[in-house]
Amino acid sequence: MASWIEQSVSRGILTSRYPKAAATDDETPPTGRPPVPESPATSLPAARDRCPVGAITETAVDQGKCIRCARCVGAGLSFSGSVEAATRSRSDLLRISAGPTPVPDGAPPLAGLGRSLHLFLVDVGSCNACNLEVLALANPYYDLQRLGIFFTNSPRHADVLVVVGVPTAEMVEPLRRAYDALPAPKAVVAVGACPISGGVFAGTEGLASALDGLVPVDVYVPGCPPTPTAILDGLLKLNGRDRETREGRR
Ligand code: SF4
Ligand code: SF4
Repeated sequence: MASWIEQSVSRGILTSRYPKAAATDDETPPTGRPPVPESPATSLPAARDRCPVGAITETAVDQGKCIRCARCVGAGLSFSGSVEAATRSRSDLLRISAGPTPVPDGAPPLAGLGRSLHLFLVDVGSCNACNLEVLALANPYYDLQRLGIFFTNSPRHADVLVVVGVPTAEMVEPLRRAYDALPAPKAVVAVGACPISGGVFAGTEGLASALDGLVPVDVYVPGCPPTPTAILDGLLKLNGRDRETREGRR
């Protein structure tokens, strides 16, 4: 017993301090941040042909399509965007990549959602990576309960539908049933490039539609997969407890 106490005291607090403190380097691997152009006028045209998913246009990087493959890194782009990359609208995913210090317009917290959020996770066709990143939030390091966030086993007990994966035709009906089962007020969070744009599966036969063509989406969390910290930022954007809102950055 004494050795356990000794270990606890010597190691200090091992749980994440996010969002009270900024995300640490350990919490944000290089591809945990969005790629942004060092000089939009010259780097975007130069890097465009390198992108396998057509995320780079003449004027911006569509973070909703980007799969963080790093092919554009070294051609004038770097993973130096803000880890707080989740947005309340699809169009802001284009805008945040247009400069080195992206600040999305944002939107006010959703009316009716309290400080506490209950999540129901739906996988509509993921490769499992986004799934694992969402579930990583349930481990003690992130200590979601300190923020009033809980996972539930039934959509009837939830107020937030967290959706991962590419929406396949077979999952459209179960997805809509889960959405309908959530009591109002409710919210939907799209996690990863797959539900936002189809990601690497865009244009394939099995993709029914982007998620926002099936149910209303309230927060978009880009990445492939996004890190747990980026997902947490997206969840907190629902009720205005995210770092950007707290610091008046949006
Ligand atoms: S990191 Fe993103 S923007 Fe860059 S090439 Fe890969 S998919 Fe395209
Ligand atoms: S966004 Fe990427 S990591 Fe997430 S499910 Fe799709 S392919 Fe997998």
